[in-house]
Amino acid sequence: MAGIFVYAETKEGEFRKATGEILSRCRGVADATGEPLVAVVVGPAPEDAPRRLAPFGADLVLHVEGPGLEVYTSQGYAWAVTSCLAGRQPAALFFGNTPLARDLAPRVAERMDAALHADCTGLAWEDGRFVFTRPLYGGKLLARAVSRPGHPVLATFRPNSLGVAEVAATSPAYERVQVEVPAGSVASVVKETIRQVAGRVSLQEAEIIVSGGRGVGGPEGFRVIEELADVLGAAVGASRAAVDAGWISYDHQVGQTGKAVSPNLYIACGISGAIQHLAGMSSARCIVAINKDPDAYIFKVADYGIVGDLFQVVPALTAELREMLVRA
Ligand SMILES: Cc1cc2nc3c(=O)[nH]c(=O)nc-3n(C[C@H](O)[C@H](O)[C@H](O)COP(=O)(O)OP(=O)(O)OC[C@H]3O[C@@H](n4cnc5c(N)ncnc54)[C@H](O)[C@@H]3O)c2cc1C
Repeated sequence: MAGIFVYAETKEGEFRKATGEILSRCRGVADATGEPLVAVVVGPAPEDAPRRLAPFGADLVLHVEGPGLEVYTSQGYAWAVTSCLAGRQPAALFFGNTPLARDLAPRVAERMDAALHADCTGLAWEDGRFVFTRPLYGGKLLARAVSRPGHPVLATFRPNSLGVAEVAATSPAYERVQVEVPAGSVASVVKETIRQVAGRVSLQEAEIIVSGGRGVGGPEGFRVIEELADVLGAAVGASRAAVDAGWISYDHQVGQTGKAVSPNLYIACGISGAIQHLAGMSSARCIVAINKDPDAYIFKVADYGIVGDLFQVVPALTAELREMLVRA
């Protein structure tokens, strides 16, 4: 083994939350094996990257840069990551399960001829092997997958699922790796990057999500959901029924064909709890359901349930929480 590598993804100049979670969770493995814990940053990176990654226990920050890496492209970044890792014999390369990583990780795995465990929610180190926990069949089963010693393994981890482990801060070394993406190897051209959800917390990284379903009754029904989200500093999610009806945009959709999320608190309002919705949120640490139907399936997975009309319950909850937070 020659290192445990973590892809340190940035968004708008900040490292994504999952980077710190994965790095800190791997620190113990690095200590146990004596292998370095390496953060790989590709393209534009914060100038003080080592300082920012120090609290999570990184030993080394590898900054891969060069022409063609100014913005993310699937082929360019896959080429850059594999070129940087060639000859370093990584034991593992881990990513946060972000939209970018879902595109990048399989390409890198294919180039490295390595296994990829996608969308994991748990990581352990047992008897010299990585052990991954991965929800299957919409979260009904939790698969346990183990790495093969001597073979590199890749995995993506759902943001929030690992949490940040308490580790002693390090003073990471910093190494620049200059690469030049071969001309003609990138098929796509990024013309513009558009921020879709301005000013709101990213759904996948949010610690609290307030979601609305068909029960909100229309686009204006999401006002009460947004108000509660604002008070809690939460992201707004939605069921597919609400998205398909055009009440809210697809980037809010939680579920099998939307985003998989693992917040500390998930508040489902007017959502029945279809298996495809549960597939995206059942790993939340605490689920609160608000539904006027006492037999709604969502109550079977909820930690707390409120039977009632969301248009009465949610504003009352918002007012109460606002007052509590002001007092605090
Ligand atoms: C291949 C496939 C993929 C899918 N992917 C997804 C996915 O990614 N995400 C997803 O969410 N769905 C997905 N679905 C759809 C899924 O099967 C359900 O149809 C959908 O989740 C239902 O959304 P809902 O709970 O908002 O609506 P409904 O099932 O209609 O439930 C609405 C709920 O609101 C309650 N309600 C109504 N009015 C009020 C009120 N005033 N106050 C309180 N409660 C109220 C009702 O009692 C009901 O329980 C997928 C389906 C398929 C076939």
